[in-house]
Formats: sequence, structure tokens, C-alpha cells
Amino acid sequence: MAFSSILGQAKALTLLSRALASGRLAHAYLFSGPDGVGKTTVALDMAAMLLCRRPEEGRPCGRCPGCLKYRSGNHPDFMRIRPDGAAIKIDQVRELKKALNFAPFESGLRIVLLEEVQTMRREAGNSLLKVLEEPPPDNLLILTGTGAGAILDTIVSRCQVIPFAPLPLDLAAEIIRQRRPELDTAGSEALAALADGCPGQALAFEADGILLLYRRIVAAFGTLQDKPAIRTERALALAVELAEAKEGLEPLLALLRIFFKNAMAAHAGYASGRGVPPEVEQARERWNLTRLSAKIKTIDFAEQALARNCNRGLVSEVLLLDLFDCSPL
Ligand SMILES: [Zn+2]
Repeated sequence: MAFSSILGQAKALTLLSRALASGRLAHAYLFSGPDGVGKTTVALDMAAMLLCRRPEEGRPCGRCPGCLKYRSGNHPDFMRIRPDGAAIKIDQVRELKKALNFAPFESGLRIVLLEEVQTMRREAGNSLLKVLEEPPPDNLLILTGTGAGAILDTIVSRCQVIPFAPLPLDLAAEIIRQRRPELDTAGSEALAALADGCPGQALAFEADGILLLYRRIVAAFGTLQDKPAIRTERALALAVELAEAKEGLEPLLALLRIFFKNAMAAHAGYASGRGVPPEVEQARERWNLTRLSAKIKTIDFAEQALARNCNRGLVSEVLLLDLFDCSPL
């Protein structure tokens, strides 16, 4: 089965599998949907299938020269174009058009992946229209872009649009866990919810170091028996990092809120079936319901302060001193 390793996106995958099985591919596809829901993953999988010389049950064999070259990133008949800086520029489209003048080198088909076409301005978009309308033979164009009217109409109307949607949260959490096996169930579910069912966005939190910082803060709750001076020092050091998290600060606060809510739920015996992660169990032992509820209020207060553009450093300090049970300075 084609795309068997991909979770979710049943509608998109059915459309594409049908086209692959019948051998009747459109000449240009537009994978349209929010960031981080698998558009590029599906496009790369599709290219792998089409460039394999000996596919097995619709899957790339992984051993033929086509597969080996594709995997190593050196297949001459696969082109990948991403925004150069903020946008795909007209020069990039010109280069592409030049390349398309030649027949594919090794396979019967050249595949061109153009990512984030919503970044194309009209000039670059117009330059692409002719190619989209009538690509030279033996070329397949796959465009990806965020939908919601962001992509030039003239591009949309010349492609077969394949819609991609946010994933159900349990599925998104499963994908996050597959990629980050060290995450516990509660953590991956929290991330899936934060990213509105777009696992790629959730994993980007990790790339920004947000998840790592979150885990360090939570791990440091385990050292609260240390002397107050040490606790204060630790809280202030983490506060500096927290303040530097930029756009990551709000998602991080949301994760912390979920952490304390889970500890409250653990008091009520909820989640016992699934097993309470050790750090949540520690939090349950350390703080009673009243104090956990106060921690959540502190997080609410920090969020409100940030929304009012209060000093991020100060907000982070006050928050972490409170979370680490340090008396106010
Ligand atoms: Zn192969």
C-alpha cells in the first residue's frame, strides 16, 4: 500500500493512492493545508515511490539505484525548491524553467517539489503559470502551501488541489511520540493540543528548545528539598532562559499549566489507568490541591502580564520564584 507509514490525512492519501494506482497523475498538485500536518512528508513519499524502479506493492523497494540516489539526496530527477529567505523568488522560477527544458536524466519522470508557494509574489507566481498549465512532458509538479486564501488564485486554479487538515489530537500525539519516544503520553498530548493537531508545529517547539526548557523546569521541581538559597538561584537562572524563549514563552506557560492540571488530576485519582508520569506524581506528593491551584493562578497571572507587554524578564522571575516555592525577594 502506498503511504502506509503515514498517519491521518485519509482523504488526501485516498486521492493520491488512486491516481498512483491508475497511473493517471495530474501534472501539477497543490497540497494545501496548515503547517505541520504532513504535506511535505507525503510529497517526499510520493516522489520516493515514483522514482523507484522496482516498486513492491506500491512501496519503494529501497534498494534500486533510483531509491539509493533519492535517499542520499542525489537523484538528478528530483528538484526541491524552498523559499530563498522569505519567499520563492522569480529567479528560482527561472532556474526551474531552464531545468524543465531538458528531459529527465534517469527516470521516466522528473519530480519538482515547490514548498510554501503562499510566499510567492505575483511576479514569481505569474512566471510559473505557463509551466503549471502545461509542464513539459515527463514532469510532475508538487506544490505545498498553507491554504486559507494565502496562495495566488492563478496558481490554485491550475493545480489539482489536495486538501490537508489538522489531525485528531490522539493521532497527532501518536505522531509526536513516534518522533520523540522520550516524551510521555501527557507531554505528547499536551503538545498536540497546543499545536492544534499539527504535529509538525509541535515538533518545531522542540526545535526551538522550548520542550527541552520545559523538561528542565519540571525536572528541577524534583530538587525543591534543596536549601532556599539554592532554589532561588536555580529559579532565577531558569527565569533568564524563560524570558529568552521569545515566541516560545506562551506555549511554554501553556505546557506548565497542563503539568499542574495533571498533578491536580492525579490527586483526584484521574489518569491512574494510564499511569501517572513520575514527575507529575512527585508534584502531587509535594503540593496539595490548594497549592497546585495557586500555581496555576500564578501562570494565568504571568500570561496576563505578558499580554499587557509587561517586562518579560520580570514576569519570568516572579513566575519561577513562585513555582519553586521561593519567598518573594
Ligand atoms: Zn527502488
